[in-house]
Amino acid sequence: MPADELIRHGQHVMTVCNACRYCEQYCPVFPAMERRLTFATADLAYLANLCHNCGECLYACQYAPPHEFGIDVPRTLAKIRVRSYEDYCWPRFLAAAFRRNNLLTGFGLAAGMIALMFAATLVVNGGNLPRPVGAGDFYAVVPHDVMIALFGGVFLFAIAALWIGTRRFWRDIEGAAAPARDVNALVRALRDVLALRHLHGSGEDCTSAEETRTPWRRWLHHCTFYGFLSCFASTSVAAVYHMVFGWQAPYAYTSLPVILGTAGGAGLLVGSAGLLTARRRRDPSLGDPAQDGLDQSFIALLFLAAFTGLLLLVLRERAVMSALLIVHLGVVLALFLTLPYGKFVHGIYRTAALVKYARESLTV
Ligand code: SF4
Ligand code: SF4
Repeated sequence: MPADELIRHGQHVMTVCNACRYCEQYCPVFPAMERRLTFATADLAYLANLCHNCGECLYACQYAPPHEFGIDVPRTLAKIRVRSYEDYCWPRFLAAAFRRNNLLTGFGLAAGMIALMFAATLVVNGGNLPRPVGAGDFYAVVPHDVMIALFGGVFLFAIAALWIGTRRFWRDIEGAAAPARDVNALVRALRDVLALRHLHGSGEDCTSAEETRTPWRRWLHHCTFYGFLSCFASTSVAAVYHMVFGWQAPYAYTSLPVILGTAGGAGLLVGSAGLLTARRRRDPSLGDPAQDGLDQSFIALLFLAAFTGLLLLVLRERAVMSALLIVHLGVVLALFLTLPYGKFVHGIYRTAALVKYARESLTV
């Protein structure tokens, strides 16, 4: 659907909902909508990123298709949401990546990164994979400085792209006011994010089809989110060990980086596998089928990163470790490169939208 037509349809949907207001108890989208009489593109971007696609308002709606009003809030906001990712994307010429990001491109990028890393390692080591002297000696395969330069560079690029995109989104929906200005709103929004409070906004489990409710969507999101955070904490602690204390990997199975990495990897594995399965069973009319690839690509890369990471941990004392390490690092590189152009953006923009929502709620 062309951008103008999508915005016009979003305005039509929100105008009908604003007159009806039947769904106002379901989630923050409706109270935020009620504070507005008209819906500019930035308003729709804000409302779209407040929506977490629970589906309650579709099943509750007497104007849902095939009614002539054609009110399908979850699907309409899902389309506007991904359009907002493209609009605020940095650099702008990569906006199309959101449309092209799918399972094939995700796997293709991972395969490309793995091939590149294998080629570079073979060239540097005279055509052979290095054989580590000690068990689990990752730096004998890929030197520490190379890891820092490679992953540090890609990570900084991803952070810069996410930061600039989020800043553009925030400025459009809220103006120049800094998000940190209102501490109470910030605390409330972060609490809602960490607890995924609105995922069961109606007070009941999530819908996956009409009259079908399960708690899984929320728990699987929790596993994925906290798994990701735990893996990030593991890498950060390992960096402090290495750079501050001079303690070099491999670390013992009982050390903090390994415990955090194992817990995080397990959370990611369960969360991503569960979300992939749950998506397949969900009523397709709740989402935008055009975005299936975008969602699946991110979740599949998370799963692969967790799976190869845990496998590496289990087999780190075997000869296969060298090859496994390169496969794992290639997958993680692909994951980092796609972070600013994939579903990961959803979590960041949603947090910004919840900060704005908390601000509006506290000032009324
Ligand atoms: S989704 Fe339907 S029932 Fe809910 S507020 Fe909008 S028009 Fe009313
Ligand atoms: S799908 Fe759920 S979160 Fe989105 S607008 Fe409807 S009730 Fe709110």
